[in-house]
Amino acid sequence: MNLRPPARRGSGIAAKALSPTTTPGHTNPNKQVVIAATGAPSPLRDRQSIYHLRCSLCRHDYGCNGMDIKARLCPNCQGGQPGEPLREPATLSLFD
Ligand SMILES: [Zn+2]
Repeated sequence: MNLRPPARRGSGIAAKALSPTTTPGHTNPNKQVVIAATGAPSPLRDRQSIYHLRCSLCRHDYGCNGMDIKARLCPNCQGGQPGEPLREPATLSLFD
């Protein structure tokens, strides 16, 4: 008899289908590291939100929308576009 467990096709593929470039800890080819998702809407790209990125070369922190992470260049030391607004969780208020 052959009692091998069934192959779980697709269980890994589904995870890879999500944008891995937006996962905290991801480093793009330009050494820009994803720190966290801020959840704030991007002013540059419709239906994209801003992620907190940090340059691993100069430690510059800035915001970047999800679509641009994979090719992002540091605005401080690599001549990239200026960072998008970065809203730190600690500064959030109830706007009252
Ligand atoms: Zn830099």
